Amino acid sequence: MIRGTFRLPLWLLGPALAAAEFSWPTSMQPGLTRRPEDFAQPTVSGRLESALFGMTRENGRRFHEGVDIRPVYFDRRGEATDAALAAADGEVMHLNQAANGPYGIYAVLWHADAQVPHYTLYAHLARISPALKVGAKVARGMTLGTVGRTAERADPIPQSRAHLHFEVGLLLSGTFNRWHDAQKENRATRNLHGVWNGQNLIGLDPLPLLRAGRVDLLEQVRRMPAALACVLRSPKAPDFALRYPALTEGDLGQAAGWRIEFTWHGLPRRWTALAPGSPELPASGWKLTALDRSQRDLLIRRKMLTPAGDRPGETLVRQMGILAESAK
Ligand SMILES: [Zn+2]
Repeated sequence: MIRGTFRLPLWLLGPALAAAEFSWPTSMQPGLTRRPEDFAQPTVSGRLESALFGMTRENGRRFHEGVDIRPVYFDRRGEATDAALAAADGEVMHLNQAANGPYGIYAVLWHADAQVPHYTLYAHLARISPALKVGAKVARGMTLGTVGRTAERADPIPQSRAHLHFEVGLLLSGTFNRWHDAQKENRATRNLHGVWNGQNLIGLDPLPLLRAGRVDLLEQVRRMPAALACVLRSPKAPDFALRYPALTEGDLGQAAGWRIEFTWHGLPRRWTALAPGSPELPASGWKLTALDRSQRDLLIRRKMLTPAGDRPGETLVRQMGILAESAK
């Protein structure tokens, strides 16, 4: 479908409106969408917070990138019949019709008409609406499919835990596939999802967006505190900096490299172009240059840092690898 080789993906850019509008992504009664007690589908732990965004799983050791919403309508066999609904006006980018990965059957929409273009993702669907096609425009509230429990994993999702895994976030790279295929551990696995592979998507907490309805995403991203910064030597801009000019500052034309500030969970929230001769620049590649010590514990648990807390951990290495690949 989408090849991972385009440079500046113009199709991902829209007219840049300040506010994005969101609505609840399932057909449950609006009265249930306010309190997690009513809408959340926790993991087998039964802990409510495990359905929410953040380091909410395995005693704070495992990250959950979205919100898990339970179904409220069922057929005679007990399978969910709730509709998964488009949370915002957008364009269909990816329809994965088989349970061939952790998201199972899933749909991805792209919302270009925002200062911070973003995706929404609807996972574990029982089925996708047959009329839905990649490239189609969809309106907020339109049915995308049926909530379900599809996933390829060791412990299948039981009927009692059917849910919609819903995500909102930013796209890391247009050349994700090149990075994917260069990883030793991926020798035996083909990337079936193009740039819409979960590793190439970085989520934000969807609940504040769904609650607010009308959201200035740029403001939301700017409000997220930086937890660490890396500096990358690269005269060419990673395509993230071009896709998100609102998050980028400095002279792109003169840049010899980039300072990239990350949130605790790995969202590259702010980019600064660095002039040649900038003392921050490493001789080659990238390095970790700054760290907010008050977030050190969280960064270690998210694997942005190694357990000792002094070097880049596997999450940060992956994020930087994916971003830097697009500048090659
Ligand atoms: Zn989930």
